[in-house]
Amino acid sequence: MRLDSEIRNNSTSGGLVTQLLICALNNGLITGAVVTRMSKDNPLVPEPFIARTQEEIIEASCSKYCPVPVNMALKELVKTGSKETIAVVGLPCHIHGLQKAKYKGLFKCNLIFFGIFCGHTPSFNATQWLLRQNGINVADVKQIEYRGKGWPGSMTVTCMDGSKVSLDYHMYWDSGFGKYFFPPRCTLCYDGTAEFADISFGDAWLPRFKNDRIGTSVIISRTSVGDRLLSQCKGIIELQKVDRDEVVASQRSMLAYKKKGYSARKAIRRFTQHKTPDYNITEVKPKFVDYLGAISVYVSLWMAKHHLWPLLKVHSIVTRICRFVYKRQKNP
Ligand SMILES: Cc1cc2nc3c(=O)[nH]c(=O)nc-3n(C[C@H](O)[C@H](O)[C@H](O)COP(=O)(O)OP(=O)(O)OC[C@H]3O[C@@H](n4cnc5c(N)ncnc54)[C@H](O)[C@@H]3O)c2cc1C
Repeated sequence: MRLDSEIRNNSTSGGLVTQLLICALNNGLITGAVVTRMSKDNPLVPEPFIARTQEEIIEASCSKYCPVPVNMALKELVKTGSKETIAVVGLPCHIHGLQKAKYKGLFKCNLIFFGIFCGHTPSFNATQWLLRQNGINVADVKQIEYRGKGWPGSMTVTCMDGSKVSLDYHMYWDSGFGKYFFPPRCTLCYDGTAEFADISFGDAWLPRFKNDRIGTSVIISRTSVGDRLLSQCKGIIELQKVDRDEVVASQRSMLAYKKKGYSARKAIRRFTQHKTPDYNITEVKPKFVDYLGAISVYVSLWMAKHHLWPLLKVHSIVTRICRFVYKRQKNP
């Protein structure tokens, strides 16, 4: 939890990423931070960049629900061989790639990884679909803010004529936006909590914060760098200890999808001649129902990608019926 109510209210959850970055910058721990804002010229396109001031860090707060090429922001540092210390805010997949590049000696600079929990990232089609569902023409969009305005917040679309459309977070995320539109590579991701970050941040979906309307984040400090950051920001942020099991329980469906369903999805991808990553981990042995779930995911992704959007409703009804029958058979 953090104490600056304006940043907290205008961030994704507790605003801890933004607040810790500001604190690290002001204390001289970092000289910049790779963060992401939406492009002013093309409001549906994200723009990762190195923020050098508090204002720039605040400008980039809040989740961007579209694919983000975080690595592009580091290009200049690689080119110049800069030796500064830079914080990088990224999803688990960004951090996997950058940790590998760091291991191979690509960077002279010192990178501190701020990882964001992630179930999957919506594709660009997700936003297009949502705009269409709400009768908004893509060409009329001036600005999109995916989260913010309290907890769990809402999406705000500002149109060229100045009018605004606000969509409640649960209403749009639980619609097709968060269900059917994401890159297939996300189905092969095993890491929901940014396990290779120095410090990871997630939404606090804990029962004890159910009535919170401003926003709270869950954080996991994973390295001594993460611990140092937190101790330097004492007095600026407010922390409460949370039990590990409580955090796992609050992210249960996302983690079950990632950890338990992974092997079946990998098998289907391999069967269909796609490349798959090799994590060198002990996988959970899939059951028949996991394969059915995996097939269902790929069928819906295929429909979404090929703009067969009306068929997604049929898919949703069929999966709900199958789930109902399965549960009835398991617990008659
Ligand atoms: C695609 C996506 C999926 C997520 N899924 C989950 C989930 O399943 N469960 C969960 O608990 N939390 C999830 N989160 C994380 C959560 O929504 C918050 O981002 C996190 O709690 C941090 O909140 P905050 O208020 O501290 O961040 P803020 O202070 O609002 O700062 C967010 C920071 O992240 C950067 N950022 C935003 N979007 C991206 C992006 N796509 N790629 C790289 N950097 C970005 C911003 O530039 C900013 O610096 C997801 C976030 C994203 C972007």
